[in-house]
Amino acid sequence: MTIAIDGPAGAGKSTVARGVARLLGWTFLDTGAMYRAVTLEVLRCGVETSSEEDCGRVARSLDLTFDSKDQILIDGVPGEPGIRSAEVTRAVSAVSAHPAVRKVVVADQRALADACSPEGGLVAEGRDTTTVVFPNAAHKFFLIATASERAQRRARELNQVHRLDEILADIERRDLLDTTRSDSPLREAEDAVRIETDGLSPDEVIARILSEVRS
Ligand code: C5P
Repeated sequence: MTIAIDGPAGAGKSTVARGVARLLGWTFLDTGAMYRAVTLEVLRCGVETSSEEDCGRVARSLDLTFDSKDQILIDGVPGEPGIRSAEVTRAVSAVSAHPAVRKVVVADQRALADACSPEGGLVAEGRDTTTVVFPNAAHKFFLIATASERAQRRARELNQVHRLDEILADIERRDLLDTTRSDSPLREAEDAVRIETDGLSPDEVIARILSEVRS
């Protein structure tokens, strides 16, 4: 069974999806980490982020898997913390907008879901997981929060409250790129349960999701 959790940058998807997976004893799939991994390699290889062909070639060359703690491995090597760097964060929307990249990454995501044991399940997090990757997921959620709330959370998470303005600008820039790209733009699935997370703690959002899933 799959639970898909979607929403814009900084809506708390990762923390919440990880928490839901932990409480259910299921696998957590961080789809953003996969696009970040491709971007890290694109930058390492000195490939132009605007070149669909070159970015697609890098994506096809990589073996993306997850360890037992659901942390990404790039050709068997841990991708953290490199995939969270400011350079990767700046470039990831451009790289992930290429259909040639998305085709490879989405196929990998579906293969990872197929590999889950029948008794267990997968909690997949990321824009397009409810609409494109797992449109038939048993449960779909769309988390939202205002851009300023999302920026404050991200700044606290990164321990960089002094960079709040910069982080807010980055979130607004990524919102624009992610919602306006032609391949799989961020949008709310009609059958997703929408959760407004402003003022809610991660534990409160996790509890809402678990009560929906169990009911
Ligand atoms: O979730 P995270 O911030 O790590 O995602 C990084 C970027 O990867 C997003 O801004 C988006 O451009 C891209 N992404 C995507 N599709 C997904 C997950 C992430 O395009 N399913």
